[in-house]
Amino acid sequence: MADWAARAADLDAADRLRSSASRFVDRADGVVAYFDGNSLGRPVDGLPERMAEFVRHDWGGELIRGWDGGWMSWPETIGDVIGAAVLGATPGQTVVADSTTVLLYKLARALIAVVRCADRGRDELVLDAGNFPTDRYVVEGIAAECGLRLRWIDVHDTVGVTPDQARDAVSERTALVVFSHVDYRSGYVAEIGPITDIVHDAGAMVLWDTCHSAGVMPIGADALHLDAAVGCSYKYLNGGPGAPAYAYLARRHHDRARQPIQGWMGRRDPFAMAPGYEPAAGVRQLVSGTPPIVSMVPVRAGVEMIAEAGIDAIRAKSLDLTDLAMEIVDSWPSGWEVELRSPRDHEHRGGHVTLARADFELVNQELWRRGVIPDFRRPDEIRIGLAPLSTTFAEVACGLDVMASVIGR
Ligand SMILES: *Cc1c(COP(=O)(O)O)cnc(C)c1O
Repeated sequence: MADWAARAADLDAADRLRSSASRFVDRADGVVAYFDGNSLGRPVDGLPERMAEFVRHDWGGELIRGWDGGWMSWPETIGDVIGAAVLGATPGQTVVADSTTVLLYKLARALIAVVRCADRGRDELVLDAGNFPTDRYVVEGIAAECGLRLRWIDVHDTVGVTPDQARDAVSERTALVVFSHVDYRSGYVAEIGPITDIVHDAGAMVLWDTCHSAGVMPIGADALHLDAAVGCSYKYLNGGPGAPAYAYLARRHHDRARQPIQGWMGRRDPFAMAPGYEPAAGVRQLVSGTPPIVSMVPVRAGVEMIAEAGIDAIRAKSLDLTDLAMEIVDSWPSGWEVELRSPRDHEHRGGHVTLARADFELVNQELWRRGVIPDFRRPDEIRIGLAPLSTTFAEVACGLDVMASVIGR
């Protein structure tokens, strides 16, 4: 059996991002390995002080004047920070608001309106059966609400939607396609550029859910001519439980898109309190109600750390982390019958590694008891989520060593 601890120590020593792992709030008591940064990232170092400072000086000191002092434009200013560091978007196309679910609804409706305004015959929405539940439910709801038809794509356990499947599904009937960039179960990375081109060639638009790619790999929103993207900030962006989501809407759609939740905060000149809704200019029109200012403090801290590290360096470390995890799992006796449900090739591999075995629900409980925290997806999957900024190679070796002792006993 290889000496994984020594291997991991060498990798940590050579890691360009190694100092960032110590820049998170002190490790929780008894946690040996945290493998769920893809569901809830750790709080960044200094955040307790930044939060206290915000409460004392910004909120406590400025009181209502804080809105004039800048809070009003935080959705766009923090959106721009996310756009630059995470999405590959120039300023003015990203806002922070709501949750992923709500922004998904607003963006989907806005894009559908643009497409159908030009061509009423486009009455189909394309989605895949493997997408995250909230995406499926929202799109199903829109179909029912707007009288549109759903065209489903079936996907295999370890693969997401391929360009060929997308090409077969879209037609002159398609209004909107909704896919995830990275599959939340297997971590499969969809070919976002080619698929976007295929959808555009068919005259339709595509909305990308980037919850599981944001902060762990480059997205290339502008370069790939995405129409719109949505994602949450509490996973690899370390924004904290229930942190607000972000929406990217390409500038070329700003004039024609109209999202359906017409609130005062997305109106032109909200304090005119005037009759009738007129959308604010630009991406601000995606905002509906009062922005979640307090919750944006941790989002900003998390995204600043990503900006500092650089998304390409983060992706490189992510691949090294998942390489190590896969090598360790490959070294386990085949009699343990652990199945790898994530792609091996780098091009299609996301930030987490999914393993399966019939008894993994019980195994997961035992791992949590021993301070190793992955997450379990029914019926039989354990996801090993490796957040590049906060996870060390030693943590991977150590956590998987505990896992081996649980499943090999
Ligand atoms: C985490 C996740 C969500 C979560 O949506 P919320 O509205 O924040 O609950 C949506 N889509 C994907 C792909 C996710 O991974």
